[in-house]
Amino acid sequence: MSYESKMFEQFAMPTRKQVEQALLRALLKHGGIIKEFGAGEEIVDEIASDFGLTEHQRSAFLRTVYRKENRIKKSLLWHRLLFRAADSLAKEKLVSRPTQTIHLTDRKEWMLTEKGFDEALKLSNIPAARKDFLPTKSYEVQKIVKKINESPRPENYNPFDKEKKVIKATRESVMRTRAFRQAVIEAYRYKCAICEMKINSPDSLSWEVEAAHIVPHSSMGRDDILNGLALCHLHHWAFDVGWFTLIDDYTINVSSKVHSLPSDFGRIGDYEFIRVLSSKRKKIHLPCRSEIHPHHDAIRWHRQNVFHQ
Ligand SMILES: [Zn+2]
Repeated sequence: MSYESKMFEQFAMPTRKQVEQALLRALLKHGGIIKEFGAGEEIVDEIASDFGLTEHQRSAFLRTVYRKENRIKKSLLWHRLLFRAADSLAKEKLVSRPTQTIHLTDRKEWMLTEKGFDEALKLSNIPAARKDFLPTKSYEVQKIVKKINESPRPENYNPFDKEKKVIKATRESVMRTRAFRQAVIEAYRYKCAICEMKINSPDSLSWEVEAAHIVPHSSMGRDDILNGLALCHLHHWAFDVGWFTLIDDYTINVSSKVHSLPSDFGRIGDYEFIRVLSSKRKKIHLPCRSEIHPHHDAIRWHRQNVFHQ
């Protein structure tokens, strides 16, 4: 038995398999990403607490002799075990290594892969059907998000995707849809572009806000941030049925039919979710970077084809 294994045994540390599972659950809880252990004291403590590790176990260290430099290096036993478990998950392609993830996030982090995401859902008893609606990051989908965010903004934009598979979803189209959702809701900081409503589920896994297509999915609208808008459920519905649209400076334009709307329609207590938009010429809440604002060619199409003047 190696010195390291002896130490794990002597301090009655959890097994590597147990730590691997705890890591997958922690990754899911933290949106698919956790910091490298050297930089992430919080995550290191959080997982230690899940196992109920004592102070004695948390502060135990290993002595490694560096022959070249002729010195002894001390490293924390718990860090070592976390690293061993994460390294083994990376070998099984369940997580991406910090050296890979850094190209996507600019930070040294461990990130779930699609395979790791499926495994983490299983371990946390979350039905696989929920996967598409969780904003949890995965390495493969983040690669697409990066492409979506960094593609150059064209002068003339074609908001239609001729190749789009509207009827039958493929693995690629499912990942593209998730990347679209994530890119859009993240760019709008999880808020509705109209009313700025922001709320997540009690388990912090999902957000109320939705990524709306300006040219709808059913009309072959692109899964692209220039054709996207983050909207709450109510405003998403109202936008899709043409109650309001946007003009080129991103001011909200409400249908004149609002004046003939019975007074008890669209009311939640004192709040009237459609009428409130017609009272002042309000601009929508937009992402900081203007290169990813909705494209005029997409909103013009919405004005001409969906909006009810
Ligand atoms: Zn809203």
